[in-house]
Amino acid sequence: MARVAVVGAGLGGLAAAARLAAAGHAVTVLEQATAIGGKLGTYARDGHVFDTGPSLVTMPQVYRDLFAATGGPLEEAVELVRLDPAVAYRFADGTRIDLPGHAAAIPEALTDALGPRSGREWTGLMQRAAAMWRISEEPFLRRPLEGAATLARLARNPADVATIAPWQSLRGLGTRQLSDPRLRVLLDRYATYSGSDPRRAPAVLATVPYAEQAFGSWYVRGGLHRLALAVADRAESRGATIRTRTPVRRVLVEGGRAAGVELADGSRVPADVVVSGIDATALYADLVPGDGRARGPRRDLARATPSLSGVVLLLALRGRTPGLAHHTVLFPEDYDAEFDAVFGSGRFRGAPRPVADPTVYVSAPDDPALRPDEDSESWFVLVNAPRHDPGRGVDWDEPGLAGRYAADVLEVLARRGLDVRDRVRWCEVRTPADLARGTGSPGGSIYGSSSNGTRAAFLRPANASPVPGLFLVGGSAHPGGGLPLVTLSAEIVAGLVGPA
Ligand SMILES: Cc1cc2nc3c(=O)[nH]c(=O)nc-3n(C[C@H](O)[C@H](O)[C@H](O)COP(=O)(O)OP(=O)(O)OC[C@H]3O[C@@H](n4cnc5c(N)ncnc54)[C@H](O)[C@@H]3O)c2cc1C
Repeated sequence: MARVAVVGAGLGGLAAAARLAAAGHAVTVLEQATAIGGKLGTYARDGHVFDTGPSLVTMPQVYRDLFAATGGPLEEAVELVRLDPAVAYRFADGTRIDLPGHAAAIPEALTDALGPRSGREWTGLMQRAAAMWRISEEPFLRRPLEGAATLARLARNPADVATIAPWQSLRGLGTRQLSDPRLRVLLDRYATYSGSDPRRAPAVLATVPYAEQAFGSWYVRGGLHRLALAVADRAESRGATIRTRTPVRRVLVEGGRAAGVELADGSRVPADVVVSGIDATALYADLVPGDGRARGPRRDLARATPSLSGVVLLLALRGRTPGLAHHTVLFPEDYDAEFDAVFGSGRFRGAPRPVADPTVYVSAPDDPALRPDEDSESWFVLVNAPRHDPGRGVDWDEPGLAGRYAADVLEVLARRGLDVRDRVRWCEVRTPADLARGTGSPGGSIYGSSSNGTRAAFLRPANASPVPGLFLVGGSAHPGGGLPLVTLSAEIVAGLVGPA
């Protein structure tokens, strides 16, 4: 039995704690915030309840595996609800597509909205994406990153390399296989699931819509934060201890290997294994600053483009919106202007800025647990945003900016047909600076580093750090951000640590 210290009670840290406790280790989770969950957070006021981060669950099999491996089925812990339609898409030209929640129905919906060619082309694209998934899932998503060895496993068969087309961007793939510009926009959006720019992210990200459509879009009744609570419960029921309000200042290294952690109050928690569930950039910069072995990951992180961030509006609304879907996406006329603004590229080279005419994502679950009464709604509204970077980019703490930008977003919503301005009870705005402060993600990057660039996946920090006994889970480490991949990172690390 090893003593394991887990730093951070986001989903990555909690899932690792549950697995390692179930494997017989003595696990202590140390979380700086007052509550667990990290980005998978919640906010409640006046009977309105919101998820503050994720609103979409994909790849439910990953959580089923986690719960089954740690003592009992997922269904005993949370209720997953499959969404159908998955998303209501609204385009700038007025086109509406209610994307079905079952893959088999999607081509027909696309044919109805965009014509038969689009239905056929999407089917062709998803066949290619299914092949990409078969090639990459096991060697890449479910195994530790081992540099050249991982590449070699992926490149064993030249036909597989041609299918993955590592030289091609997601945008390039869409341009090749999809004729309708609206369908290309729909594909482009999946780059943002890893905080990336479709013009620079690899074509293999077509596996994201494939996985979403093949395995479904899901909601956790009562709010997604309940998933974090359920994983925390599972960890504790297997013997783990979770301490909130306990910031970790340093990873202790003795005799060349991790030996525990030092807390902000100066006390120490000795351990044989340390699992970091915090942002990898923060880990390598602040928690193991002097260790020369961390030079490699530090260099790789510096080469990668950080993922985008987001501005969130939590809207407590009077009244109900007829016909509102669970998720609605309202696209702008010029999607590229959004990526230029967020990443400070193209026409805004070197000068990232809040997006003037952003894509607006509205998540409005029809769930009585989230509203004070039947004549109210609680909306989570998200727009992509540049990171908080007062030195070189946007200073989201600039007085008045958050309020002004929230008003702009409400106006964009109104222009696109969802005018709720006279129904707002109150609006809580969360900027990238708030996200950075709340979760310790530098600049409020949602997914650690982005997938921009052909080598991005290989610049992501590995789950086994160069310091023996120190492991990484979570969205900034391999295999990447988003709830399912974060949960897989915990499975990989539990495998690396091994049984007690
Ligand atoms: C607005 C938004 C929308 C999103 N939408 C989706 C979605 O729809 N679907 C999806 O799958 N994913 C989504 N994501 C991404 C998803 O939330 C993350 O990938 C995932 O929750 C990250 O989990 P994590 O464990 O890696 O890190 P985090 O949740 O960031 O957890 C890290 C934890 O470590 C703690 N910590 C940091 N430093 C220290 C320290 N020194 N000592 C102790 N504790 C520390 C933090 O307080 C935090 O609790 C979204 C994220 C955001 C912000």
